[in-house]
Amino acid sequence: MAKRKYKMKTACPQCGCSFAQVLSPEEIKERYGDVPNVEIECGECTAKYLTDMETACPEWDEECKMQK
Ligand SMILES: [Zn+2]
Repeated sequence: MAKRKYKMKTACPQCGCSFAQVLSPEEIKERYGDVPNVEIECGECTAKYLTDMETACPEWDEECKMQK
């Protein structure tokens, strides 16, 4: 069975630079854990900001809830 990949998309509140990545469920868990908020570091201005997983990756958020 092919593993599903999840697209995360956010935008930096400081410079407006968008940030996107495609992660497997393992990678998401490893990097962010099972939390509703994730911390992202902006690649442009290196500002760190929190974003809701629900906003960044609705698919993953849904999957998380299903697993509970
Ligand atoms: Zn930025």
